[in-house]
Amino acid sequence: MSWLPPDDESDDEPYADYEARARPNPKGNRARTKIRPEHKDAVTGRVLTVDRGRYSVLVGEGTDDEHEAIASRASELRKNAVVTGDRVDLVGDTSGVDGSLSRIVRIQERSTLLRRSADDSDEVERIIVANADQMLIVVAAANPEPRPRLVDRYLVAAFDAGITPILCITKTDLRDPTDFLANFVGLDIIVVQSAENQWPLEVLGGLLSGHSTVAVGHSGVGKSTLVNALVPDAHRAIGRVNTVTGRGRHTSSSTISLRVGDGWIIDTPGVRSFGLGHINPDNILGSFTDLATVALQCPRGCTHLPGSPDCAIIEAAEAGELGDIGRLRLDSLQRLLGTLA
Ligand code: GDP
Ligand code: ZN
Repeated sequence: MSWLPPDDESDDEPYADYEARARPNPKGNRARTKIRPEHKDAVTGRVLTVDRGRYSVLVGEGTDDEHEAIASRASELRKNAVVTGDRVDLVGDTSGVDGSLSRIVRIQERSTLLRRSADDSDEVERIIVANADQMLIVVAAANPEPRPRLVDRYLVAAFDAGITPILCITKTDLRDPTDFLANFVGLDIIVVQSAENQWPLEVLGGLLSGHSTVAVGHSGVGKSTLVNALVPDAHRAIGRVNTVTGRGRHTSSSTISLRVGDGWIIDTPGVRSFGLGHINPDNILGSFTDLATVALQCPRGCTHLPGSPDCAIIEAAEAGELGDIGRLRLDSLQRLLGTLA
């Protein structure tokens, strides 16, 4: 999946001169006097966080001169949102010293885009995070009560975006998560368990290494606690769970990228749910590669939902051709597709 800002035809286009010079000038008239910036000297960086129109951008990543620059967004980007995880080109003062300000002039092509709509009927999508390749879905075994349907929604958003989900069950000291986990056996996902003072840091460190992982979860599940354990200087605010409602309280409200070894974890405190109005069911099926192959024999427009006439996956499952695991996977696929119906 990729995304690029739309081509700009307006006269303010920052690369207009570059284009013009590449073409022979048919009239052979004098050189233009007004030189617009080409941003050839732009430096590239990683957007760590966004706060009220100011972007914190890591430049010189991995070099001796690695530092954070503060940037604003150039007006030439118009309505294209810059989000945490974006790779951007900056011009201006990228020194990062107090009072310095640079400008984001370009958003580089994104490898993935995690999006959501405000609710399921809303097709206007909002981008949450760019370039994540993994999603850490944090869910508590108890307090707050785990909601399999909410996890399904996270999974749908991840599969749609081409992001690999990982399930992290917290608070296993409060309840054995076996029954809850039975909901997900048909899905080919890694499950990590966590308990008070027994954070699975080594396992998570290994999973996160070399990746950009967006962490999502309903408030109160212990996501901040986990992030703080993984990134000791993160200082993510730990909320108190209301013992009556099981709800947490968030004091840190911005999405932020934090380094874990040679990987990144992107904490998204504001994201409590995903509207799925923009999702294409084919992307969900595509994440079940084994079933997608079978579905090639389905009639045109088949939804693969229970009762679909002549659905090749359902027929294969009923004929026992997919085995027990295939049946479970079909159940999971139908459940995820059902969240979109
Ligand atoms: P967040 O809203 O998901 O960021 O949740 P927090 O990290 O703020 O944690 C909410 C509450 O759950 C805090 O009181 C934590 O101390 C508590 N908590 C976090 N992890 C565990 C755990 O594994 N076991 C238990 N019993 N409590 C936990
Ligand atoms: Zn079908």
